[in-house]
Order: sequence, then structure tokens, then C-alpha cells
Amino acid sequence: MKNLTGPSPSMRLRPGNGVLARHEDLVLLCEVPPGAEDSVRSILAEAKAAAGTAQPGRHLLRHLVKTLTASVDSFPSLCAFGAVDDGIAVAVHGNARLRVTMEDGELRLDGQDAVTIVDRLVASPVMSITGEIGEEIPGFCSWSELTSGVVRADALQYGTVDETEPEDAEATSAEPPPRVESGDDEEEDPAPPEEDADSQIVGVSCSKGHFNDPTDQYCGVCGIGLTQAGRSRARMERPSLGVLVLDDGMSLPLDKDYVLGREPEAASGVEAGEVMLLRLADPLVSGVHARIRPQGWEVKLFDEGSSNGTFVREPGTDWCVRVPSGGHVVLRPGAVVTVGHRQFRYDSHRRP
Ligand SMILES: [Zn+2]
Repeated sequence: MKNLTGPSPSMRLRPGNGVLARHEDLVLLCEVPPGAEDSVRSILAEAKAAAGTAQPGRHLLRHLVKTLTASVDSFPSLCAFGAVDDGIAVAVHGNARLRVTMEDGELRLDGQDAVTIVDRLVASPVMSITGEIGEEIPGFCSWSELTSGVVRADALQYGTVDETEPEDAEATSAEPPPRVESGDDEEEDPAPPEEDADSQIVGVSCSKGHFNDPTDQYCGVCGIGLTQAGRSRARMERPSLGVLVLDDGMSLPLDKDYVLGREPEAASGVEAGEVMLLRLADPLVSGVHARIRPQGWEVKLFDEGSSNGTFVREPGTDWCVRVPSGGHVVLRPGAVVTVGHRQFRYDSHRRP
């Protein structure tokens, strides 16, 4: 869209029961209430048609206003925005919200503020637009990227968004956590190092002798404060970071790397006996699919370039995010991992 900053705005989403369409300079997020499928189908068709016009935002808005006034009680909640001559036209209806962040301020629209449609023309340069239908739920799927087409979703994030998620908060915190692993491959190098058998890590012990992550304020085992008494760091054997609990009830202690796959013995490091093999006889699982690696004080999940992907549901959320192919994520206790038809949970007795 012409007055958005950046050449090609990215769009992230939150998977859900609504439907999200992106056609060139037009974006539409729409609820799909039971029995309203035909109505939704017609709005989607109109959005696609509008995208081909000179002023897609104006075209779609006109259509929405016209059909809305004819059937306001049965019209699905939605938010939409599209390019017009002098900016971006934005609109919301029903249980839906839009937030437009501009260089010189912010605009919030709530569909509940009007019987029919709430719409505005935004002329100043736009940094980002976030939209949501239904309940207000925080969080986006950080690996999603819709460049064009129609998908199921309940929320969208368009353009350059000021990140406020925990992982980013950590990245920008004033005091970076000290890295204790040798060959620190954080973020930059997605491939796990072949031989990182270093189970000796740096930490601090609480007054009861529990060994802890030096960046923690409280003991992960007994909860006692770690900051008082100037505890000194030491290099010791890594304590157990928890277990993997499989969907068949099997429980695996996380004291070594695990390679998951239909033929996990083909993975690197196997000959040296440094990894445990977890064979999953499932047609959707790749030969060497994923790897779980305790590293420093973290448990990391690597996708080994699997065909069908490795997915993680973070604790406290009800949607899955895909691990970038060949990349990794840090697992938090309670996270549920899906590969093919199989699932397992990372559990830890240590407090997060
Ligand atoms: Zn303790």
C-alpha cells in the first residue's frame, strides 16, 4: 500500500476460526458465524474483485456499506483496509478492532462503536495495522507470513510492528544474559554443532546447594533468592532440565540430545554415541526430523529440514507455530511439540 512505510509490508497472523484475505492492496479479516458462510463467501469475492480496481479500499467499503445496511443483524464481524487515492481506507464492523500506527500517532477503531460500520481515511504515513475479530487474545504466530491469498485467522499484523513479545523484550533488556556455552550459536547458525558434549556449565548454587542459571533471581528448585550473599559462579555438571513426555506415556530424561525421526540413526553425532534416538514410525515424519538439545540452561528444539514441519504450542496458548526449517526455538516448560501425527510435551520440575 502506497503510504505504508517499507517497500513490501509483511503480514503475520493468528490462526483462528475467521478468514483472512490479502489481495494486493486490500486486506480483509472476517468472522465466519454459523449459517453465514454464503455471506462471507460473497464478501470474499467482492474483496478479490475490488483488489483489481484503481481504488480497492473505496470499492470494498462501498460494497460493505451497501450490503450491511440491507442485513445488519446477520452481517459477520470484520475489519478491512485498502488503498485509496490519498491514503488507506480502514473499516470495522461488529466485534472487531483495528489499530493503525502512524508516524505521528495512533488510531483505534472498534466496531462496537457504531451500528453499521466504523470507517476512516488515513492520509499520514502508516507504520503498521493490527486487526482482530472476536475475543481479545494476545499473541501472533511469529513465523506466519501471508503475502497473498485466503487463510483461516482471527487476527493480523501488517507492516512494521513495534515488537512487545517476551522474546524480544529479552533481546532488548539492558543487561544481556551472560553466555556460558562455548561456540555460542545463538540465532545466527541454525544447524546444531556436531559435537557439543559440554555438559559442564556455569551457574550459581542456592544456599541449599541447588545449581541454577546465573541469570535467574530465584532458585529453580526451592525458590530461594539467589541475589543475596553474592553467590559466586562455578562450572558444574548441568542438572536435569526436565523430561519429554510422549503421547504414548513414555518419559525421557533430558540429559542428552535426542534425534527424532523415522530413521534417526542417519543423523550426525550418532556414531559417537552422543545422541539418543527416538524412532517415530509415522509416514508424516521425516527420516531425520528434529532434534532436542539441552544447551547451557536451555532446551532447544531444532527442525532438521523436515518435509512436513515441526510445530510448537507454547504453554498458555492454543495455537501452534512452526519451527523454521533448519532453525530452532527454545522450549519452555509445558510446551507441546507436534511432528506428523505424534506429540510430546516438555515438562520441568524447575520453575521457569
Ligand atoms: Zn534451592
